[in-house]
Amino acid sequence: MRIHLKTLGCRLNEAELESWASDFNARGHQVVNDVCSADILVINTCAVTQNAVRKSRQLVRKAHKKNPKAKLVISGCYATLNENEATAIDGVDLLINNAQKDKLVELTLKQLNTDVMPTIATEPGEIALFSRGRQRAFIKVQDGCRYRCTFCIVTIARGEEKSKLVDDIINEINLAHESGIKEIIVTGVHLGGYGSDTNSNLYELIHSILEQTNVPRIRMGSLEPWDLPENFFSLFSNDRLLPHMHLPIQSGSDSVLRRMARRCKTDEFRQLAINAKKLIPNLNITTDIIVGFPGETDEEWQQTLDFVAEMQFANVHIFTYSKREGTKAAGLINQVDEKIKKARSQALHKLVEGMKYLNIEQMIGQETSILWEDKLVKHDSKRNSYLGYTANYTRVKTTTDVSIELTNHITINKIVAIEDGMPYVEINTNP
Ligand code: SF4
Repeated sequence: MRIHLKTLGCRLNEAELESWASDFNARGHQVVNDVCSADILVINTCAVTQNAVRKSRQLVRKAHKKNPKAKLVISGCYATLNENEATAIDGVDLLINNAQKDKLVELTLKQLNTDVMPTIATEPGEIALFSRGRQRAFIKVQDGCRYRCTFCIVTIARGEEKSKLVDDIINEINLAHESGIKEIIVTGVHLGGYGSDTNSNLYELIHSILEQTNVPRIRMGSLEPWDLPENFFSLFSNDRLLPHMHLPIQSGSDSVLRRMARRCKTDEFRQLAINAKKLIPNLNITTDIIVGFPGETDEEWQQTLDFVAEMQFANVHIFTYSKREGTKAAGLINQVDEKIKKARSQALHKLVEGMKYLNIEQMIGQETSILWEDKLVKHDSKRNSYLGYTANYTRVKTTTDVSIELTNHITINKIVAIEDGMPYVEINTNP
């Protein structure tokens, strides 16, 4: 069977896609990039905003239109929260809700009567990830969240915290590594809550991954800035654990954070960032900010701008607040006017661009490891361009002679300049 997989939304959805790809592959099926040649289409939908809901519907319709003969399977938050509507979309053969996601491959093959003997024998995980053109794999280690942030629908859709067993995680990482993956990203809905149901914690998990795998680069996925186990930062003394943490603060105003029911206020975040930077050399901290949360006043907004400027984040993912039915925040009074949200978002984008540039400037002269990912081939040129990521998750660039092949190689180089708004390195020999 030829399977085409697509996802919308968060990193966790990405992680699930990777794991389904490996699972399909392990059962002898082939994951393909081309929608039209697939026998089965699997779409992982998202419902984090109304826009994501609309895009999910569109994606499902488009996939069916492109390949009406293929069986169409949908899953994810939009499908789970709107089962009746989603199953009624033209072409949908099977809906697998979030509670059954771990068994998606098994259920798909069984319920669509395709669980036949594999036609091709491949080593588990051998080509699935590469056929999707990735050097990186997302490894999902836990699902669900015990908290109820008032804007978050994800937690309602995904239920209680559930951690994967360490041995299964290690196995998945080793398979990914064997298939050529150089970097894994450890992800979860509430990653810091890993082990809450298995008498373990994130420190123990990462420690085991460092001990029992050889994958060269391990990156933490989004981590809520609380519930971090004691000694967590000491793990970063092993340089395979990359110096980058995405810690979503969501607002720089304590009163907004209270309305969001977040467990971390600005002072705690500030302390966490100071401690982390003290202990982890060249650490980059990135974050998420929601613009225009209900009731956000000019003063609260200014507090957010000031906080972002003070923290000097390496990057900020900016989300404009949009009402999600079913969340507590949707019912809050004083929803912020769209025009105000737009102006605030523009101001924050401007601030962040300046901070990013400053951060890049400070990297000139630094030596760092880089995983090279994309090759940009220019016809009739004797040189190729490559894009990659540094250990602390900064996009970098180089230009090399065509005889040099960098894709999926890790090199250690000095950043010498800024080009196209990115750090630039020089490479003259094959790695
Ligand atoms: S901690 Fe994260 S996943 Fe949990 S409710 Fe809050 S935003 Fe949602």
